[in-house]
Amino acid sequence: MSYHEINSTHSPDLRSWVDSANAPGADFPIQNLPFGVFSRKGANEIPRICIAIGDHVLDLAACAHSGLLDSLGEAMVDACEEMQLNRLMSLGAKSWSELRSRLSVLLREDNGELRDDAGLRAHALVSMTDVDMHMPAAIGDYTDFYASIHHATNVGSMFRPDNPLLPNYKYLPVGYHGRASSVVVSGAPVRRPLGQVAANDSGPPVFGPSRLLDYELEVGFFIGPGNELGEPIRIHAAADHIFGLCLLNDWSARDIQRWEYQPLGPFLAKSFATSISPWVVTMQALAPFRIPAFARPEGDPQPLAHLYSETDQQRGGIDLQLEVWLSSERMRAEAISPQMLSRGNFRDMYWTLAQMVAHHTSNGCNLRPGDLLGSGTVSGAENASRGSLLELAWRGSEPLALITGETRSFLEDGDEVILRGYCSGNAARRIGFGECRGIVKPAPAVRQ
Ligand code: MN
Repeated sequence: MSYHEINSTHSPDLRSWVDSANAPGADFPIQNLPFGVFSRKGANEIPRICIAIGDHVLDLAACAHSGLLDSLGEAMVDACEEMQLNRLMSLGAKSWSELRSRLSVLLREDNGELRDDAGLRAHALVSMTDVDMHMPAAIGDYTDFYASIHHATNVGSMFRPDNPLLPNYKYLPVGYHGRASSVVVSGAPVRRPLGQVAANDSGPPVFGPSRLLDYELEVGFFIGPGNELGEPIRIHAAADHIFGLCLLNDWSARDIQRWEYQPLGPFLAKSFATSISPWVVTMQALAPFRIPAFARPEGDPQPLAHLYSETDQQRGGIDLQLEVWLSSERMRAEAISPQMLSRGNFRDMYWTLAQMVAHHTSNGCNLRPGDLLGSGTVSGAENASRGSLLELAWRGSEPLALITGETRSFLEDGDEVILRGYCSGNAARRIGFGECRGIVKPAPAVRQ
């Protein structure tokens, strides 16, 4: 299916008349074209759908309104005039591909349709410094997985040294139902949660601010067309139900988590906030960076048939470089740049996106356009690729040294966590995900 294949929109030679898109290290060259939702700063206007091109956003509602997207049909024009991406997500892979092709042509250096229309360009092309980004979609449901075997093994060995990896791990992508209402877009502050924490596993607990606040480096993915209740999405079809990817920080209060997680899994330790990047990079933009699924070590079971497809094994992985950066209050006061804490790659995930979708719906559970699924913490085999502070500082036993002389076992108030991601190599143009940022604010006062 063409949506998953490389076509002329991926050509590394393409250049845009938006100059900043042609800079070698740009996150948003013409080969990327990620979707988001914006409004002009201070304009008190209704949010609109856009794509990123260089250091600008292109207002798709303005494009649709002016007739530039008429060739794509009424359903697409209507979808581009919505306030969020859900309707566009529901249209499916063929429509997304047609839109991408049209936008790619419109932005090419030799195309004058928009470039030479000064009035429309002034209206539709807005500098990123002049916009606020909003939630890309209305997220009906949010599910978070646990698809990195390295993360699962690290965390398991801290909490269950004799039994780090439970027997189900290699048979199904473990997940839990997260909280959609507290998913926030990059830049929104995150308040340290209050909760019950206990000095040891048998209690008793005290109620107060979490002292072991952590981040989790994850990739989020948005569902396109959903499925009817009772009708599973087969593994072979799963890729066509995924619209695109974003960066996701699954903020986690480890002390609250430890006391509450048995027997039903994470609850308040996770539901106080989840941050996502504002840009959704489409699966089609990622086509040049698809790689084989994680190679299971000898002796691991093969996935059961409903989680196995030859195509998914060959193309289910994504070569996506991911980084975590930290900026403490003191670093900002002293004008010191953020410090990189870790670097990992999405290729190290034990389960593919298609397997997560197939598993999620295998019991008949329905997914809907705009549903958000999280991959789970992306950790690799190396220490430097551990995707949470819990792992990097090994439960506080090996605190991290910051360049200011500060140390971190867990997050302090005023810390800003910055996730970054990009794909490069494979004879393709580098594409970036932008950033997912969040600053930790002090907990509310405890009232008795
Ligand atoms: Mn998580």
